[in-house]
Amino acid sequence: MRPNETEVYPVIIIGGGPCGLAASYYLKEKGIKHIIIEKNEMLQTWKNERWDSFHLISPNWMTNIPGIKSRIPYNNEYMSGKEIYKYLKEFMDMVDPDYLENTSINKLYKAESLYKLETDQGIFHAQKVIVAIGLFNQPFIPPVAEELGKDIYQVHSSQYKNPNQLKPGGTLIVGGGCSGVQIALEVKQHTENAVYLSLGSMRPIPVIYRNVNGMYWLNRLSGFQVESLYYPIVTRICAIKTFKMLLVKTSSVASQVVLSLQGGLLKGKEQNSCFQTVFAML
Ligand SMILES: Cc1cc2nc3c(=O)[nH]c(=O)nc-3n(C[C@H](O)[C@H](O)[C@H](O)COP(=O)(O)OP(=O)(O)OC[C@H]3O[C@@H](n4cnc5c(N)ncnc54)[C@H](O)[C@@H]3O)c2cc1C
Repeated sequence: MRPNETEVYPVIIIGGGPCGLAASYYLKEKGIKHIIIEKNEMLQTWKNERWDSFHLISPNWMTNIPGIKSRIPYNNEYMSGKEIYKYLKEFMDMVDPDYLENTSINKLYKAESLYKLETDQGIFHAQKVIVAIGLFNQPFIPPVAEELGKDIYQVHSSQYKNPNQLKPGGTLIVGGGCSGVQIALEVKQHTENAVYLSLGSMRPIPVIYRNVNGMYWLNRLSGFQVESLYYPIVTRICAIKTFKMLLVKTSSVASQVVLSLQGGLLKGKEQNSCFQTVFAML
């Protein structure tokens, strides 16, 4: 579909992820005409950007998809990536929105009383725009990654699928948030070789704290500051003070690096700190 230069949409939603679909659900409820414009395919991040063994870190009771909430079990289990995608696809089929895929909004501005959305297909016009382009879907590759030797295979977690795609030899996982820890544990179970996890200030949320789900505490408390329960599995810790040392160490012990860093979360110095701080051997 190409934009009709004379048509003015009451609402255009940018992004066909869960939030874009939820916006569409509520607009439909109110009978407001709209279209979703998605730069890849609908539900792209959940369909294509998770590894095979991925599990949500939020328990089922937190998954509140409007319209199909009663179909989702209300318990403390964690859905796999495939399960949550199945529910999101059901949600999309139920909402049945008008959408346009493979169309990136390159520029958004207001001209007189209308919003103009520039795409590679032409310009769309709208009275209102909902921006639902996500926060966590920007892979971040720190500049220092370029300094690693060409013989070291590098992959970002958004492109990582399973350990079969890795080369024989040690593995360094960069980024100690929930994704980094999930991937490190999976790789560790798959190999006899060393698996390293490089930690910045980002910490994974504990699965259980004081007998209660970690996400419950995160929901209830502000300034969440508890040491992760994952760390007892760390058997040896050595501090790496400079990039140089890390680079030397990496090329001598690891044949590959899995980067598990998201641009939306990391700012300034933090962007390189995952490489700089503690280097833990699982
Ligand atoms: C590894 C990982 C694990 C996660 N685990 C959990 C979890 O356990 N529980 C949880 O609640 N959340 C989790 N999240 C957060 C998750 O991203 C959000 O819950 C949810 O997907 C956000 O939905 P969204 O629609 O805002 O964004 P997204 O799902 O990111 O969708 C945004 C869409 O916008 C599109 N888009 C971007 N720019 C443009 C543009 N210029 N033009 C057109 N389209 C554009 C993208 O292609 C994408 O399809 C996780 C995220 C990651 C990365």
